[in-house]
Amino acid sequence: MTMNTLKILAVDDEPGMLSGIERSLVNYTLRLPAPAGEVNFRVRTAATGREAVAAITAEPPDILLLDYKLPDITGLEVLRRTAEAAGEMLTVIITAYASIETAIAATREGAYDFLTKPFTPADLKHAVRKAAGSILLARRAKALEAEKKRVRFEFIRVLGHELKAPLNAVSGALFILRDRTLGGDLDQYGEVVSRSLARIGQMKKLISDLLEMTRLESGKKERTLEDVDLAAAAREAIELSAWEAERLGITLRLDGPEKLVVRADRGEIAMIYNNLVSNAVKYNRPDGRVEISLARRGPRVSIAVSDTGIGIPPEGIEKLFGEFVRLKDKRTKDVLGSGLGLSILKRLVELYDGRIEVESEPGRGSTFTVHLSAGEE
Ligand code: ADP
Repeated sequence: MTMNTLKILAVDDEPGMLSGIERSLVNYTLRLPAPAGEVNFRVRTAATGREAVAAITAEPPDILLLDYKLPDITGLEVLRRTAEAAGEMLTVIITAYASIETAIAATREGAYDFLTKPFTPADLKHAVRKAAGSILLARRAKALEAEKKRVRFEFIRVLGHELKAPLNAVSGALFILRDRTLGGDLDQYGEVVSRSLARIGQMKKLISDLLEMTRLESGKKERTLEDVDLAAAAREAIELSAWEAERLGITLRLDGPEKLVVRADRGEIAMIYNNLVSNAVKYNRPDGRVEISLARRGPRVSIAVSDTGIGIPPEGIEKLFGEFVRLKDKRTKDVLGSGLGLSILKRLVELYDGRIEVESEPGRGSTFTVHLSAGEE
């Protein structure tokens, strides 16, 4: 549980009042609903307006408990003089006569709340609780905003980085062609052209993954729910990977019912399969196997894709579903990928109220199981 400490400055010219406030709050622990957690308070005091101004300027508190009527300058004057230094400080005005005029004037100077004298420790705690809740809520909103900015920045930074390498490779290849570096015989350039095409394919995949990701994130993705046969869709996914699988000597197998109909968007199901099957092929060993198993249990279905590949170390499993995450491994440095496939998969599966399970043994293979809601019958 998180523990937050909020700073309070209590300003009053009656010593009894100040010690009463201190006594009430020093050992007070506020329990707010998660994620705010527990809050306790550090209390400082000031007996005059000028002392208060000096204390706020030196170190602005989170909450200011301010007597309206002070011996030297008024509470309002304190607020005016500290307007710049105050930052996010919330002010609770303590007043013996909560007239509408004081309320208006104090609110205009930025007061957050009022506490009328005489008040009980419970009244005080109630006012402090309200202010603390508001402060922690504002802090959380700010932290979320900063996190959103960071993710957006990271997205663009990684994208730039990911496009640069293949673009450099392709322009290098074009220079070789332009300058006829390998001689006048065009046949000499076959390899250079093929490598460039592979790099362009990689960039296209990255861009289409990014667009898909953006559509999913914005919640603006168009979906058509219809009856989709998961077994037929699996056979199509196998077909799509067949060429790559054959090149690597990998056998693909489907296990489960002949037909398994769910309510789903056809394109989304195809994407779920393709992400899982293409990974199971890409991260396999030569002459390895991939098996897709389908099962239905009541209103839920599961799609399990197992491979006999390189596997994933336990500390890698948590990271996999992050954007642009690719695990470092010597064996896969030439494997093309954007690192977006599994983060797209995760978002797609969420659309079906589903979850993903990963079991893996490094060096032996991995099984990714997707559990989905089958939708209405
Ligand atoms: P990509 O395949 O484009 O790199 P993914 O998001 O699909 O991106 O996968 C993220 C990373 O997870 C891969 O780079 C790889 O390190 C690891 N990974 C995914 N599937 C498997 C698998 N079946 N076996 C081993 N590692 C895998």
